[in-house]
Amino acid sequence: MEITKRNKFVEFIKNYWMYVAVAVVVLVIAITVGVLAGGQTVPTTAPKLEFSLPMNEANIIKDYSSTELQENTSLNQWEAHLSVDFASENSDVFAVLDGTVTKVSYDVLNGHLVEITHSDGFVSQYCSLADEPLVSEGDKVSAGEKIGTAGNSSNAEIDLGNHLHFTLYLNQEAVDPNNYLDLQNK
Ligand SMILES: [Zn+2]
Repeated sequence: MEITKRNKFVEFIKNYWMYVAVAVVVLVIAITVGVLAGGQTVPTTAPKLEFSLPMNEANIIKDYSSTELQENTSLNQWEAHLSVDFASENSDVFAVLDGTVTKVSYDVLNGHLVEITHSDGFVSQYCSLADEPLVSEGDKVSAGEKIGTAGNSSNAEIDLGNHLHFTLYLNQEAVDPNNYLDLQNK
């Protein structure tokens, strides 16, 4: 009985070893692909960036809206507002993350502007600042560091008075700061 069973097994292997070999190869490939795919999920489990707020105890005077148009009385037009406007008694403006100042400029529409490039594809932009921002291109700044003062230098939003027009970009696209900054608990 035993011998017969063993013989049957040997017969089976002789006849089907090719299939067994293919099955083993497929299994190895599946495990390899699984491990590689698992490796790609690492970024989602990486520690989340901790954003600080660009102004203290500020009111949001105009929120982010990508689909709903909002009236801009300064330019007399309806437009999407891919930024958040803040106003506060204390007009200090702070960097929201560690980074490097990549632009300090002035133009009539944006007013005085500071742009900071951070890690993970984030760029923050601060417009309508008062004259003479405190930073220069190439400066390294830390989250919470004062970079300037909110002003009324942006002609595109001059009706809003002294305020900060804050924009957050992720991979060159303006994103809703509400999804990254704790604006409700400001
Ligand atoms: Zn604005």
